[in-house]
Amino acid sequence: MARIKKGDTVVVLGGKDRGKSGKVLQVWPVEDRALVERLNLAKHFDRPQGQNQPGGIIERERPIPLGKLAPLCAKCGKPARVGWQISDQGDKRRICHRCRDIV
Ligand SMILES: [Zn+2]
Repeated sequence: MARIKKGDTVVVLGGKDRGKSGKVLQVWPVEDRALVERLNLAKHFDRPQGQNQPGGIIERERPIPLGKLAPLCAKCGKPARVGWQISDQGDKRRICHRCRDIV
């Protein structure tokens, strides 16, 4: 089970977007990276494509290494240090190390 998955709200732990949070749009476990909504934006130069699309500079999300991300704990309101707990049904669950709540 992944520490961070698609649809999670995560907090950035380092870099220029440190402390900001956003929703995970996509995760690439092999590359160890995730795309987070409106975070780690990079300017992207678009070539003009005919009269209706003049091109120009747009901002686009760039993948962030998973090690720089942590799930946001709704209870603490802080980045969760992820722990694991086995439920009675034998499922592995992700919990916040601080408050032991499921994240
Ligand atoms: Zn917590």
